Amino acid sequence: LSKHMIIDKLTSIENEIQLKINELKTSSLKPTIIAVSKTFPIENILPLVKFGHAHFGENKVQEALDKWTEIKADNKNIKLHLIGPLQTNKVKFALKIFDYIHSVDREKLAIKIADEQNKQSKKIKIFIQINIANEEQKSGVKKEKVYEFFKFCKNLHLDVIGTMCIPPQEGNSKSYFLEMNKINEKLNLPDLSMGMSQDYLEATENKATFLRIGSKIFGRRN
Ligand SMILES: *Cc1c(COP(=O)(O)O)cnc(C)c1O
Repeated sequence: LSKHMIIDKLTSIENEIQLKINELKTSSLKPTIIAVSKTFPIENILPLVKFGHAHFGENKVQEALDKWTEIKADNKNIKLHLIGPLQTNKVKFALKIFDYIHSVDREKLAIKIADEQNKQSKKIKIFIQINIANEEQKSGVKKEKVYEFFKFCKNLHLDVIGTMCIPPQEGNSKSYFLEMNKINEKLNLPDLSMGMSQDYLEATENKATFLRIGSKIFGRRN
């Protein structure tokens, strides 16, 4: 996609979301769009950076370091979100480049993040990933374990700001989003990371605060 097209795509998604918010007539705030730039080269991403967009998502630590280290140093407003699974041996590096981790889902990882935060005197914003449809192949905490894991993270003084989910590819995300919304309210968490290119309007309706949108902005990934 050309530079102009990428900016146009983002702008039209922003407008669509604003219309949806208006239509809901609630006091919901407009969710933040995380432009998911994984696999795309930095040339494709720079137009959005220059346009002033601040939130970007990557799913691999090394790729994020390679692509973003310099640009982030030059653009202090940029916030990077790790949306993919994180191995404990990569936590050290993840903390150097990311501002948010959306995929915290096990005790060993939570402990490692807490340790590494102390070492680096840093604090990162955290989402607990929930395996909302209980799919065998997917990462995420089981629904019935969420509260326990949340308490575990709080005891480590992690800055848990919300929950995150990736609903099944096929079918309707709406019921899962509703469920996520309820879980988040129970935990009294301010943020909710859900909604991708296929279902960001449904996520908006269900009070997502961060939408993770990739292909609808940047085009198809290889
Ligand atoms: C790739 C990815 C997205 C973006 O997906 P699109 O369908 O391209 O919008 C969102 N969330 C996660 C966790 C992803 O891995």
